[in-house]
Amino acid sequence: MRMSVLLTLLILSVNPALAQPPGGASVAATTATWYAPKWVIDAPHAPVFQVRDTLHKYGRYADKTKAITLKDLIKFHGHLCGGLVEASVALKVGFEVLFPDGVVDRTDLRVVSSNSACGGDTAAYLTGARTRFGTHYIDTSFKGGDFIVQQVSTGKTLRVRRNPAIYPAEVKAQMKKIQSGKFTSEDIDRFGTL
Ligand SMILES: [Zn+2]
Repeated sequence: MRMSVLLTLLILSVNPALAQPPGGASVAATTATWYAPKWVIDAPHAPVFQVRDTLHKYGRYADKTKAITLKDLIKFHGHLCGGLVEASVALKVGFEVLFPDGVVDRTDLRVVSSNSACGGDTAAYLTGARTRFGTHYIDTSFKGGDFIVQQVSTGKTLRVRRNPAIYPAEVKAQMKKIQSGKFTSEDIDRFGTL
């Protein structure tokens, strides 16, 4: 373990107020996966991504890759939603073209996404692109599930987008209702159910 990391951990461990989050966190709480339903995680076409990162901010690729699942994405994004799933599937298609060896290099990507919380978060997590570094661009004319992905080292660029025909009309209608501002709390629940 690196000395700086070890030192930080030691400081935290001697100060219980810092080591334990407010309210405490049991092992059960830290390993809970209620937010990621089993039927989603075990779905036959649920995408899994192998990604490569660097060991620290100045470089050197890690020897090993990491697997990112829908569960990881849901935890990062905050909820399971159609936007997250469609974005992850769309990006998977793009990655298969850019990285034929199946390993996504999260240090070598730029992305353009819509301003959607769901699609934008998914793109940021999976590509490693960052708005503050100028590698994650937002285009408000883009729909959710619509992306331009570029491999920086090769300049290889492609556009992936959702086929609008597959989007459930009921979900679209419910979204439109909520976005109009004229909705009830039941409408919010109904959207979640759909
Ligand atoms: Zn979402």
